[in-house]
Amino acid sequence: MQDLVDGVKRFQRDAFPERSALFRRLAAGQNPQALFIACSDSRVVPELITQCEPGELFVVRNAGNIVPPYGPEPGGVSASIEYAVVALGVSDVVICGHSDCGAMKAIATDADLTAMPAVRRWLRYADTAKAINSAHAHTSECAAIHAMVHDNVVAQLVNIRTHPCVALALEQGRLSLHGWVYDIESGVVEAYDGQSRRFVSLSDQPSACATE
Ligand SMILES: [Zn+2]
Repeated sequence: MQDLVDGVKRFQRDAFPERSALFRRLAAGQNPQALFIACSDSRVVPELITQCEPGELFVVRNAGNIVPPYGPEPGGVSASIEYAVVALGVSDVVICGHSDCGAMKAIATDADLTAMPAVRRWLRYADTAKAINSAHAHTSECAAIHAMVHDNVVAQLVNIRTHPCVALALEQGRLSLHGWVYDIESGVVEAYDGQSRRFVSLSDQPSACATE
């Protein structure tokens, strides 16, 4: 914990003064360009990966970068999506999975989650991806997990479209969806291309988009 307290001191002494004008401007309100939905994994840092400053990304993070489909009892993820799309008017949503994801590993390997009933129930929102993943032959467990990470991003891109505010914004052409997979070791980001329905290198195809 001392590391965190020391970090706050360093932030106030070094980082804050460098951005004081930015923080003064942000104190009155935010106007982020994108909603970024990522895993809670400590190795995935949306602002670092995208080199965004405070105020630029509206972030939702949870185990497995999951978006529950819209329903009669919407939860926290639904509320955050609605706020980002309706109140903040973001133009883009990125759903970002990552390599070595513990949640996707648990699903792909049928891990025993008896001791973590909340995790077990939460990961049911990836059942669609699991069904698709299980139907494919994988050369190794590692390959199955790798595919599961990608299958899950595609499934969550489908889930987010069930949210009325997202469906409406897409229909009105004021929102684009993006599905990314971030590789921790190499820093490479793959993006889902909605036209070819394949993941491509974001560096090679920077305009790759999940929505056509
Ligand atoms: Zn993860």
